[in-house]
Amino acid sequence: LSVFSNIAQAPEDPILGVTVAFNKDQSPLKVNLGVGAYRTEEGKPLVLNVVRKAEQLLVNDQSRVKEYLPITGLADFNKLSAKLIFGADSPAIQESRVTTVQCLSGTGSLRVGGEFLARHYHERTIYIPQPTWGNHPKIFTLAGLSVKTYRYYDPSTRGLNFQGLLEDLTAATPGAIVLLHACAHNPTGVDPTVDQWEQIRRLMRSKGLLPFFDSAYQGFASGSLDADAQSVRMFVADGGECFAAQSYAKNMGLYGERVGALSIVCKSADVAGRVESQLKLVIRPMYSNPPIHGASIVATILKNSEMYNEWTMELKAMADRIISMRQQLFDALQTRGTPGDWSHIIKQIGMFTFTGLNSEQVAFMTKEYHIYMTSDGRISMAGLSSRTVPHLADAIHVAVT
Ligand code: PLP
Repeated sequence: LSVFSNIAQAPEDPILGVTVAFNKDQSPLKVNLGVGAYRTEEGKPLVLNVVRKAEQLLVNDQSRVKEYLPITGLADFNKLSAKLIFGADSPAIQESRVTTVQCLSGTGSLRVGGEFLARHYHERTIYIPQPTWGNHPKIFTLAGLSVKTYRYYDPSTRGLNFQGLLEDLTAATPGAIVLLHACAHNPTGVDPTVDQWEQIRRLMRSKGLLPFFDSAYQGFASGSLDADAQSVRMFVADGGECFAAQSYAKNMGLYGERVGALSIVCKSADVAGRVESQLKLVIRPMYSNPPIHGASIVATILKNSEMYNEWTMELKAMADRIISMRQQLFDALQTRGTPGDWSHIIKQIGMFTFTGLNSEQVAFMTKEYHIYMTSDGRISMAGLSSRTVPHLADAIHVAVT
């Protein structure tokens, strides 16, 4: 008898489980809109040309070895990542007030930041938006923080519940941590305007709330790396402290390479140095040091201006294809005369559309049309193509009429 014979079967991950179900479906019509990964018009995963080039350079460089990286990761990668998110001319960087550590993609960066805060920050509460990426509450709870939510989305307008957000942050425990999606909020695709960000910033600074940005989609949302980092830069420009978790999964297509960074902007270089010394104590017993290959790809691209430019063009092409899928889906529903206001499809931003379809409608579309998505009605625009838009529009039309 196994010592584990009483172990219970765990449920599938609500997001990754969609793909498990999709893979089992034998229908040629099947479409997977659950997965948070970019697909081409042909429905294929994409490796960027500039990534292939960087890998070629790395392979051809005989001086490269496979030694361990330092606990904090590849130094070049860290510097370049901070520049990418805060801006090359960021005073915080020039004043050496930023410490950056390479982590295991966005998830690992959030976890390391969470563990550091649980150990060293006086207020253990983190407020996350309602709704948010399903992994957030689990990451921060396991890191040792106490998770609360703030209102974010208004189902009646399929837009931002700005009043609710302001009320909840006003009522938040002073000094608490607040998780903010830097852009392309997942799952809603709803972002505050620049004016609204400014109000959020003022409120948070006046209450001493600590911003923790999750930046998983820089450049992928609007096609512009600078525009998508604007929220973060507003909080850094006021001289206050701030956390940022970066992922290169989407914007460089490096999903499986697990490459990301955690940056902590501090008040002084002295504090930043001590913070970094403590981050090492968090990381060492967790995984010792991060992997070298993905970070080397990123550093190669970011430090070479020609490759950097090529990357921004490929990035914009991905963002543009997603934006065009929004328009095509919206048009297809208009053509069908599908009841309801579907303008949120073109107003929302980033990889996902929060359709407003309920779980019964989603189940119906999966059963009858072989369309797979999370039960909250979130669809990945990156998983759509001109070929599959009509099929999806048919399904939505029937589901809601
Ligand atoms: N944060 C958000 C909001 C995300 O949507 C994702 C990925 O889906 C991540 C973080 C982290 O992804 P990864 O760990 O693959 O970088």
